[in-house]
Amino acid sequence: MSCFGGKMHSYKFLSIDRFDGNNLDSSAYFLSHCHTDHMVGLDKHEFASKLKNHNLVKVYMSEVTKILLLSDPKYLHLKPHICVLPIEQPKIVKIFEGKTIHEVTITLFSAGHCPGSVMFLFEGNDGTCLYTGDFRLPKGSATRMKHLHSGSSKKLIHHLYVDTTFCIPDANFIPEREICLQKLINLVKNWISKGKNHIVRLNLSAKYGYEYLYQALYETFNTKIYCARAGNYKCLPDVAEVLTTDPTHSQIYACFKKERVKEKDWSQWEATNDEIVPNKQLKFLSVTLSTLYFTHAALPKDVQIRISETSFRLCFSFHSSLSEVCDFVRHVQPLSVHANVIPRVGESFSSVEQRLRNLCGLKNREKINSADEMKEALMMRFSFHQSGDSKPDIFWRLICSSLKSFISSCATMFYVLSKFPETHV
Ligand SMILES: [Zn+2]
Repeated sequence: MSCFGGKMHSYKFLSIDRFDGNNLDSSAYFLSHCHTDHMVGLDKHEFASKLKNHNLVKVYMSEVTKILLLSDPKYLHLKPHICVLPIEQPKIVKIFEGKTIHEVTITLFSAGHCPGSVMFLFEGNDGTCLYTGDFRLPKGSATRMKHLHSGSSKKLIHHLYVDTTFCIPDANFIPEREICLQKLINLVKNWISKGKNHIVRLNLSAKYGYEYLYQALYETFNTKIYCARAGNYKCLPDVAEVLTTDPTHSQIYACFKKERVKEKDWSQWEATNDEIVPNKQLKFLSVTLSTLYFTHAALPKDVQIRISETSFRLCFSFHSSLSEVCDFVRHVQPLSVHANVIPRVGESFSSVEQRLRNLCGLKNREKINSADEMKEALMMRFSFHQSGDSKPDIFWRLICSSLKSFISSCATMFYVLSKFPETHV
């Protein structure tokens, strides 16, 4: 569940994945994907008024996110204000803040979390910032992201805002989705082969993110998946064609928690307080997809756990494991890292960020390529430490200013000294 407030430490004139509170002052908005914890305020009257009164203010997103968003009638009024950005093609975007025009180069990367989900890379006068949104990417992915690199070297990322959903030691390993899929295929095959009245019911929670499973199950068993939300996919034909809204035409049901009660009118179901119970003619195998259930003992052999004769839990995650996040952060080597998610109750952002810094060795940057980068690195670290809610007084400002000059001179001196032996031996 995202806890990101919407504003980064730089580029304060834009907001990401939040559309309420002080974000209503922003001059541009970015939506990483269509999950409700990233859409707070997006459907509210205040945000609609903001857009109506400032016609240069736009909401940027990927093409697929736009399609999914506008499939819900409550967001249709946003259509004239949406700007689609391409994936992995840097675009210079002009953002109008009063009389000031900011030019920011923005690059989208696929985040592998759900259809349309992206990361945003911002480059411009306020530095280079990467916001991952939610992501699930295999190890080595950052290495292949061309626009995180400049030629053969990595770009210097000043601030990284990262999905820390599973940044806990218990979630160091989460099986890859292909492994989970194969287990699911085996469960489905064994059950539906017993007869036409044998149904597999997938218990799901998030609105989007299971499309990969629907398509794979359709291809394997040549049967459409029953999904009451199939209408959401009208604009995504590849997904829509593998789904049906008629439960009598399928032996695989995709069910969402809230819908189990709503759909009590089905002739073959009887409703109880919080769940639908099938009648006696149908024999159900219940498969609940979750991650948290497994994180305390996530080993390859634990991909599925049998709860009873007709009930299984299957490990499935659209968020990266701790080791996958660390692999990503280690490659990016940002000057500062910020957690987007508090992974467990009672933790603080600073403890999650400290864990990441320790695991990823962020205190020891591998390489600084130039005197300017070294200066920049030290200045950013220094300005980060002095940022906060309380404004420094004049005396403190003078000290800060002197220290900044001192650090800048030292950085240049260190760089020159470090190069001296190479050039004169
Ligand atoms: Zn999400």
